[in-house]
Amino acid sequence: MKLTILGTSAAYSGKNEGCPSYLISSKGKHYLLDAGPGCVSLLQNYIRITDINAIFLSHLHADHVSDIYTLRYAVYIAQHEGLMQQHMPIYMPKSPRKTYRFIKETIKKEFTITEITEKLKLHLNGMDVSFKKTVHPVNTFAVRFEAFENDSSDGFSGNKTGEKTIVYTSDTGFFEELSSFSSGSHILLAEATFQNSDKKLENLGHMTAEQAGELATKAGAEKLILTHIIPPYDKNISLKEAKRSFAKDIVIAERGQEFTL
Ligand SMILES: [Zn+2]
Ligand SMILES: [Zn+2]
Repeated sequence: MKLTILGTSAAYSGKNEGCPSYLISSKGKHYLLDAGPGCVSLLQNYIRITDINAIFLSHLHADHVSDIYTLRYAVYIAQHEGLMQQHMPIYMPKSPRKTYRFIKETIKKEFTITEITEKLKLHLNGMDVSFKKTVHPVNTFAVRFEAFENDSSDGFSGNKTGEKTIVYTSDTGFFEELSSFSSGSHILLAEATFQNSDKKLENLGHMTAEQAGELATKAGAEKLILTHIIPPYDKNISLKEAKRSFAKDIVIAERGQEFTL
């Protein structure tokens, strides 16, 4: 399984750094995780747009979805050139209703929409995908990807070994259940919007870097990747603060990084 970082900035694009978007690749399939501004351009350094097998939107805030509006045209053109026969699958929450309706009306000719809920369990080509509702002002889901080296089952039960796990927190305040959802992750891709000097902002539904470290420790994660940092912030401070609460490997996410498990 491979994680490619396409964009990381919280709220708006930083200098040469777009907003959250990641590519998860497993066994020749490619999944776009969030579609923040800038991702459609960068994505084409790695795969063709027609190579995307599915898209996951963790929530409908603009910094996580806005490139969908132009990706739609790319899919439209590919379909009309005969390069794609089918609609592209996209998974997303169905609220806030007004935003959802607008996105649906815009993309419905090119995409097939499936609602993300905690009950949704996907089994995609030897990879399980599950979701956990987070603490954020709009309906938001953390996503857990578990890819198996050997998978003789076609569902969630069966003979599966050699799993590799990536958990993406999306946007969230710290809450205990997120650590069990993230348990045993080989990579924990965690939002770290704030620094300790912002403590008073905690109730806005975001974590500090130190809380992201605490989450990684509680989850028993092997590697913590800090993302969704506000552009002008000094990322070295975020790194230093996360190190107080997590003793293993910590990386600051930057576009173009690739992590292979
Ligand atoms: Zn965000
Ligand atoms: Zn958000």
